[in-house]
Amino acid sequence: MSENNINIKGKVLEIQRMSTEDGPGIRTSIFMKGCGLSCSWCHNPESISFKSELQWLKPNCISCEICIITCSHNALSLTENGILINRDNCIACGECVEECPSAALEIMGQDTGVSELVEEVLKDRSYFEKSDGGVTISGGEPALQAGFVTELLKKLKQAGIHTAIDTCGFSSKESYEKILPYVDLVLFDIKEINPEKHTVFTGKSNKRIFENLLYISEYIKNNNKELWVRTPIIPDATATDENILGIGNFIAENSIYTTKWELCAFNNLCNDKYERLGRKWDFEKFGLLEPETMEHFTAIAQKSGVNPEIVISSGSLKTEKQYETDNNKGKDNSNEPAPVDYCKITGLLD
Ligand code: SF4
Ligand code: SF4
Repeated sequence: MSENNINIKGKVLEIQRMSTEDGPGIRTSIFMKGCGLSCSWCHNPESISFKSELQWLKPNCISCEICIITCSHNALSLTENGILINRDNCIACGECVEECPSAALEIMGQDTGVSELVEEVLKDRSYFEKSDGGVTISGGEPALQAGFVTELLKKLKQAGIHTAIDTCGFSSKESYEKILPYVDLVLFDIKEINPEKHTVFTGKSNKRIFENLLYISEYIKNNNKELWVRTPIIPDATATDENILGIGNFIAENSIYTTKWELCAFNNLCNDKYERLGRKWDFEKFGLLEPETMEHFTAIAQKSGVNPEIVISSGSLKTEKQYETDNNKGKDNSNEPAPVDYCKITGLLD
């Protein structure tokens, strides 16, 4: 490693342990901050910006106003809905976080060195060894921090750890050239086949994404590595017959060297994240998908020309209990168990 690379820092959003959705076995996922796409349904909105951001955690707040007094940038105020962050003024210095007596504020996105991150994730080595698991670098978009991610992956491979990246495909070919030699598995998201729709949904055309998929597929094939393609099934967006058929046709016609095509069911359990960021989320109105919906798209995928055996579906679906709840809106359901936040568990729908 060159001297420059020793001190390289990455903008890391969080480390999530015990993941079983982002590759084989039990995994520790490292979420990088910053993405070139801005998907309208994004399940990790806090990962889109490359900048560190302050987050207020309403349930912890005791309204003492110490943070407001502490901030010398005039970025905080108390409203009837709680602490309001003026993001134009906030420089994410973290002074208010230090002073808050009840851990109701946190900085999302910490500049982190390779060695400290490796040391942290290697604490989970025994889980990796017992489950044939490893480490997945997710985001945000890890390939947009290719220098840091490459050094991180190198260290993990030196330590004998199975490595994966979870990419939206929107980065330069050069960034993948750097990263791929140190990756065992690539999880590659293909969201929408139609370029115009892709631009509407994500803010960017899918041209570069498909070019990168072709390049990565060829690399994986020639270097004895593994590729899984993943497609989020999003109501009013990607969940159309034409889209699933189109993606399947592309995979088949271009002999994409993937061992799985995973259809990932939408969920709406990330709404609180948008609330914490003070943003409205247009997909709040949609509930979990019905099993029949996923069966429908799985069947279309299996008939699209890909090997039907590689098509799988994943994610939480509406249960019979939830059908009843939907049909009895207004009844007291306060004894229902709280839903699990699968958004972070999958780490995919970004
Ligand atoms: S992070 Fe710094 S600038 Fe932002 S609100 Fe807190 S004290 Fe003010
Ligand atoms: S210092 Fe913490 S607990 Fe007090 S008002 Fe600010 S966020 Fe809430």
